[in-house]
Amino acid sequence: MEAFRFPGLPTRVVFGRGTLAEVPREMEALGRGRAVVLATPHQREEAEALAARLGARAVGVIAEAVMHTPVAVTEAAMARVAGLDADCVVAVGGGSTTGLAKAIALRTDLDQIIVPTTYAGSEMTPILGETRDAVKTTQRSDRIRPETVIYDVDLTLGLPPGLSATSGLNAIAHAVEALYAQDRNPIVSLMAEEAIRALAGALPRILDNPGDRAARSDALYGAWLAGACLGTVGMALHHKLCHVLGGAFDLPHAETHAAVLPHAAAYNAPAAPEAMARVARALAASEAAQGLFDLAAGLGAPTALSAIGMPRDGLDRAAEMAVAQPYWNPRPPEREAIRRLLDDAFHGRRPAP
Ligand code: NAD
Repeated sequence: MEAFRFPGLPTRVVFGRGTLAEVPREMEALGRGRAVVLATPHQREEAEALAARLGARAVGVIAEAVMHTPVAVTEAAMARVAGLDADCVVAVGGGSTTGLAKAIALRTDLDQIIVPTTYAGSEMTPILGETRDAVKTTQRSDRIRPETVIYDVDLTLGLPPGLSATSGLNAIAHAVEALYAQDRNPIVSLMAEEAIRALAGALPRILDNPGDRAARSDALYGAWLAGACLGTVGMALHHKLCHVLGGAFDLPHAETHAAVLPHAAAYNAPAAPEAMARVARALAASEAAQGLFDLAAGLGAPTALSAIGMPRDGLDRAAEMAVAQPYWNPRPPEREAIRRLLDDAFHGRRPAP
């Protein structure tokens, strides 16, 4: 066994069905009694229903969360929060809603209870990406890490099949990169392999029958594990590329992960053979990159960046940006090879063996 450090998993997790009912108990456990409930405009109804259920424990609803956590949206929410004398936030939704909760917590140190309804995994991380003037900046802080996460499988039953597929592939990407992270450790590697296995097994069943509770439960379990991987060890080329593409070309978050992941895996495969063997084993595939591509294609997820709004004349700039600042990757990021990777992802080519 190689030397390693395991930093622990500080967030309290409640997992099950009907667990939304446990929000009051979890607020009490934190010593909190005045919650602002957060959501996107799309999930306002769920937030208002939860606030009604919380009664006097809810002091307001802010259903303004949007993707990539624009600072202007956070500042408008902060003005509302200040007038409500809240002592915690309760977020019901995907990564966008979690992002708003984290941005408020960063500025106020209010406790966060997150109820995730996608597989993005942000709820398990101390990471926040905020956008100002079309530039997305990421930071880490213990203030950002949510105190409590309540996974309620029932809330994921309505996640549309297409979004389930791309969100699940987004989660798998966290686990794939955790397996070759510079600061990987044996516990996180076990979690990562199990996350890939759980999600790859569940997503096709969800596509067949979105109301399949057992499949939804497996996928949410995989998403928790993958989120915990993302929150514990460092990510590499794949996340860097998605960050560049999302920030500079405004590509949709989960779809970008779906299209790029097989190619990032192919790029890193020669330098991370053990990690790739574990990815392939978890996918029950003969090779990791092809297995990831086949999974995405089989789920009907986007496999080509050209299909999700990437301009062809942006590929050179994306390659430049991907190598502009140094970061750790198992295979050193080389401009020409990354340009080829992006070309493959742009056209949605199946990775070569
Ligand atoms: P999202 O939160 O934007 O959700 C997409 C849409 O689906 C929204 O309109 C949402 O209201 C709706 N939705 C969510 N759950 C639903 C459900 N169960 N049923 C019906 N509709 C539902 O998408 P996402 O992919 O979860 O999150 C993307 C954002 O999260 C990005 O801003 C990304 O940067 C961020 N993110 C951050 C981290 C981190 O660690 N900081 C990790 C992953 C993602």
